[in-house]
Amino acid sequence: MLKLRRRVKVRLKKRYGQHLLISTGVAKKILDVAELGDGDIVVEIGPGTGSLTKEILKTPIKELHCIEIDLEMINELKKLEDERLRIHHADASEFHYCELGKELILLGNLPYNVASLIIERTVFCHHCVKLAVFMVQKEVAEKLIKCSSWLGCFVNTIFQINYVMTVPPRFFLPPPKVQSAVIKLVRKENKTKIDLKKYKAFLTMLFSFRRKTLRNKLTEDLLQKALVDPLKRVEELSLEEIQRLFFIYQLEGA
Ligand code: SAH
Repeated sequence: MLKLRRRVKVRLKKRYGQHLLISTGVAKKILDVAELGDGDIVVEIGPGTGSLTKEILKTPIKELHCIEIDLEMINELKKLEDERLRIHHADASEFHYCELGKELILLGNLPYNVASLIIERTVFCHHCVKLAVFMVQKEVAEKLIKCSSWLGCFVNTIFQINYVMTVPPRFFLPPPKVQSAVIKLVRKENKTKIDLKKYKAFLTMLFSFRRKTLRNKLTEDLLQKALVDPLKRVEELSLEEIQRLFFIYQLEGA
C-alpha cells in the first residue's frame, strides 16, 4: 500500500525526531484540512526530504517557507525547484514567524521531541497565524484537546483545536513507537487582549503540584471573586474558570 516515491539519501537523525511521512494519502489529507488557496502564505515546519512540501507546491499558494534545522535535509529540499519556495535554516521552536507575513498557515509533521515548544511558539505568534495543521504524537494531541495541561489551556485560549485523524506508525519511515495524530488549530477571533507571558506563568503555577487544592495556590479572596470552589484541584476547572481566575489575578496585580 505504501510506496516511497523517491529514495531518501540522507542519514536519519534521532535527535531531530526524523520520522518521514511516506503516505501521500496522509499528506493530501493534511492539505485538504488546511484548504490552501490562492495567495496563501504557508510555512512548513520540519519539511525533511520534502514529502509534504511537494504536495503543498501542487496547490495555488503564493509562497512556501520551509523551516528546517538539518542541513542534510536542506540539501535534499533544494532539489525541489519552485520559485515560491524559500528555505530557512533555523530552529522552528524559536523562529519569528511574523516576519514572514500577516495571516500565515502553518503546517508540518512536527519533530516530536520539540512539538510542544513549536506549539507554544505558535501561540506566541498567533497575531500572524490564522491556522495550523500539525502532526503530533497522539497522546500529545489528546492532552491538548482536553486542556489537561498548562499548554493545553494556553492553546485552547487562542485556538479552536480539532482532532482530524489518527495516523498509525506504518505511515512513517522509520515507524515511531507511538501513534500519531493530525490536529487543526483555528485562531479564535476573541477581541480580549491577553499578556501571554503572564498567562503562561500563571498557568504553569496553577498546573504545578496538581494534587494540591486551589486554596494552596491562590488566595481565598481571589477564588471567591472568581466564583471558584477553593477545594477544587486544577484538573477539575473549566477553561472559563481558569480564564476568570487569571483576569482577577491580573487585576489584583498579583
Ligand atoms: N515533514 C517531513 C519530515 C518530518 S520529521 C516528512 O513528513 O517526511 C521532522 C523534521 O523536523 C525533520 O526534517 C527534522 O530535521 C526537522 N526538525 C527537527 N527539529 C527541528 C527544529 N527544532 N526546527 C526545525 N526543524 C526541525
